Amino acid sequence: MKRYEWISSSPEETKDFAEKLGQQLEAGDVLTLEGDLGAGKTTFTKGLGLGLGVKRTINSPTFTIIKEYMGRIPFYHMDVYRLEDSEEDLGFDEYFEGEGVTVVEWAHFIEDYLPEERLDLSIHYLDETRRKITLDAQSSHFEEICEAIMK
Ligand code: ADP
Ligand code: MG
Repeated sequence: MKRYEWISSSPEETKDFAEKLGQQLEAGDVLTLEGDLGAGKTTFTKGLGLGLGVKRTINSPTFTIIKEYMGRIPFYHMDVYRLEDSEEDLGFDEYFEGEGVTVVEWAHFIEDYLPEERLDLSIHYLDETRRKITLDAQSSHFEEICEAIMK
């Protein structure tokens, strides 16, 4: 639907921006997160967790597909990289339609299972300290959120 772009000049800025986004999220919100290794996906996810009130440290879920955190609502951090080329459905709907917020890294590997109403994020490396964050709001709910955080 609508695309938004934001330039970050440091890891702290990325985290702060993600925190602002996290503060706006509600149960049932699904975000996808793409970006090359070192782009800042984990940095961004840590910020989301802060915005959702998660106190525990958020790490990359590389060796587990789904990590669950508790904040003001549950936060599900998925990395579905290892599901590449598999048709495996790990009961994604239970998460997507559940009581929490879900962020999915490498989401294109489970394209068929993703809900239509999403916020698709991607982080592009510009130079050592700058990143371009693209936000594709796939519903009016996420457009409203993007408008609020871009101010
Ligand atoms: P990924 O999870 O995508 O592999 P990480 O978040 O683990 O990426 O790592 C990003 C790296 O890039 C970190 O070392 C971070 O300090 C650095 N970095 C430099 N500038 C930025 C920025 N503007 N936003 C996010 N990370 C940045
Ligand atoms: Mg990572």
